[in-house]
Amino acid sequence: AIDRYRHARPASERIFNDATLVLPGGNTRSVLFFAPFPPAMVRGEGCWLWDADGHRYLDALGEFTAGLYGHSEPAIRAAIAEALEDGLSLSSHTAREGALAREVQRRFPAMELLRFTNSGTEANLMALASACAHTGRRKVLVFKGGYHGGVLAFAGGGSPVNVPHEWIVARYNDLADVLQRVAPHRGELAAILVEPMLGSGGCIPGEVDFLHGLRMLADECGALLVFDEVMTSRLSFGGRQALLGIRPDMTTLGKYFGGGLSFGAFGGGADVMQRYDPRHSGALQHAGTFNNNVLTMAAGLAGLTQVLTAEALDALNARGEALRARLNALLAERGVAMQFTGLGSLMQMQSLAGPLRSADDLAAGDDRARALVFFELLARGVFMARRGFMALSLPFDEAACDRFAQALEEVVSAQQAVLP
Ligand code: PMP
Repeated sequence: AIDRYRHARPASERIFNDATLVLPGGNTRSVLFFAPFPPAMVRGEGCWLWDADGHRYLDALGEFTAGLYGHSEPAIRAAIAEALEDGLSLSSHTAREGALAREVQRRFPAMELLRFTNSGTEANLMALASACAHTGRRKVLVFKGGYHGGVLAFAGGGSPVNVPHEWIVARYNDLADVLQRVAPHRGELAAILVEPMLGSGGCIPGEVDFLHGLRMLADECGALLVFDEVMTSRLSFGGRQALLGIRPDMTTLGKYFGGGLSFGAFGGGADVMQRYDPRHSGALQHAGTFNNNVLTMAAGLAGLTQVLTAEALDALNARGEALRARLNALLAERGVAMQFTGLGSLMQMQSLAGPLRSADDLAAGDDRARALVFFELLARGVFMARRGFMALSLPFDEAACDRFAQALEEVVSAQQAVLP
């Protein structure tokens, strides 16, 4: 399958090889690479992508969730064009940033005050810095398999390029492990940073009792509970926190909130966030040349006010639930020990069956099975992340779901002998 893939993509291979001379790994985002080289994309429209070799793909990856609106949402294109008319980089504040912040606040009332950043990574860095400044403490509880940005990654428990916080790393969905690890440090805990569903870590939902337990623990310790909703914010109008009925002390956002342009936001209780008000003496600094860049502000505002109603989000997530159930029924029917995990429009193909509660549970999976399905789907014009991650977009409609399910059925039929 890999040889066929390579031979059909000489232009992508040339673009990749040329780039490796100046970019380690041929591009500038580690997540995008897979061997032998990823397809070089040249165009997107709706839920479709075209590569430099002329192949068309159904885009089930959705830019790792930032592509919620698809590639050519008319209201967002119009808002960007309108903002362009007024010029870029205006050297001061504009009405659009306040309007976008109000719209975010309306959806996430726990973000009484908030600020924008250029990425989800920065939003999380600022949330942790805020928690440390607010509590005067240094320790941060995170979870194995958690991902909060390239310098806040806990796939194997940590990474040499992580920012040097005093981390405590516990098992996801395991309150007993959390309590045991936190016990010696209760008075030093500044923050609990958690994704309400492990996203990059495999679309493993946080269990309701576990997340409520973290809320209680934060209160008992005097630490701030930070919900990283960079991915899960799309699960309802008010994110997963609204579905759970949990009010975190701080929330971080990113991805689609900027309409498909670079975006991040952090916010929380006024007591914490007021510290960034420069009218107060001793105010904390939060800087960033492009925090309020006019294209992101315009695109984000158009998306939230004109496109992403509660109904549109609910319909998208219902479509995701239905697709996941259909794919899992197909795999079970054929006796293939694989499954799709996730919530709503976010999902992940796993190469093992059975319940999955933490990142450790994924270790037994056979990545060769995922690779095979990935390349076989690509050959049928369906694009997902090499590791099996998928995020449906608004234009990914019923017909797209049918197409995806049919492609998977063909792959399972052709490869059943070698799948687990
Ligand atoms: N948090 C989560 C949960 C994410 O999934 C990501 C990105 N995949 C980030 C933070 C980082 O966001 P960004 O890539 O915009 O820095």
